[in-house]
Amino acid sequence: MSHLYQRVAFIGLGLIAGSMALAMRRGDLVAEIVGTARSAETRAIAAEIGLVDRVTDTAADAVKGADLVVLCVPVGAMAAVAQEIAPHLAKGATVTDVGSVKQAVIDAVGPHMPAHVHFIPGHPLAGTEHSGPRSGFAELFDNRWTILTPLDGTDAAATDRLTRLWQGMGAQVDLMDPPHHDLVLAVTSHTPHLIAYTMVGVADDLRRVTDSEVIKYSAAGFRDFTRIAASDPTMWRDVFLSNKEATLEILGRFTEELFALQRAIRRGDGDHLHAYFTRTRAIRRGIIDAGQDTDAPNFGRNKK
Ligand code: NAP
Repeated sequence: MSHLYQRVAFIGLGLIAGSMALAMRRGDLVAEIVGTARSAETRAIAAEIGLVDRVTDTAADAVKGADLVVLCVPVGAMAAVAQEIAPHLAKGATVTDVGSVKQAVIDAVGPHMPAHVHFIPGHPLAGTEHSGPRSGFAELFDNRWTILTPLDGTDAAATDRLTRLWQGMGAQVDLMDPPHHDLVLAVTSHTPHLIAYTMVGVADDLRRVTDSEVIKYSAAGFRDFTRIAASDPTMWRDVFLSNKEATLEILGRFTEELFALQRAIRRGDGDHLHAYFTRTRAIRRGIIDAGQDTDAPNFGRNKK
């Protein structure tokens, strides 16, 4: 099969870049994979485990001759990386990213992009709480969505090629405008993470409990919060700082709903609580019917 790209350059070699590299290999989608990371330690690990075909010391070197460049660093680091690689990008190359926020990445990267490249921002809606070059796996994107947010005037053929790459890595692809992406993700990912961080923080404040019962009895819902709250602090700091408006909008609505539930509990309004929980249960059903999660008890985890 002919390859979709001849040389892919990853800037950043963590969970997402590693998973992409493995998924690209699995599908024999590209001819050569090059990568670089900020620290010598990550570069050494990537070389040792053969995550990419060739590791370079600098981002500028990585992108030379690449027809696809994928920025896989935290959102707050995108601008500096874009500035560094800009003079070295090949004519006609596609530059994309995997950042969890889109408008902020466009504002950070866009001004540095030369006219001779296709800049097509993207975001795979897949991840885990693990990070680093050893955390990637080829199946991460299978049956998950990747959202591309091409800018006005972006070459349709370049977008189509990138779409086919994501599909080859197992994902389904949707196109969206960047502010809409940021609002949707504030609801589905960013605010839930903030709530998980808060809940784990609250439990930690009750240290007396954390030491014993919270861990022992964590299967009852709290365990899922701790998993989410174990996500990378740098990445999530950047998400909230760069998706400020949408997150604050959703948090405001969340707080209003929480107050309403609080009042229902105080007043003993069981009808309100029951109606609310019935509505949310139907949403869960919809997610399963859409094939985005498993119907197995306890998310299919083995009982321990
Ligand atoms: P990761 O495993 O922590 O890897 C991040 C990579 O970026 C590492 O190679 C790191 O280099 C490098 N890096 C960190 N700070 C940097 C800086 N200031 N300048 C240059 N390089 C820097 O992260 P990840 O989970 O793959 O996330 C990467 C991107 O994907 C983020 O933008 C995130 O928003 C997005 N994303 C993440 C998920 C998820 O669930 N994790 C899902 C979808 C999208 P060193 O190792 O040398 O420090």
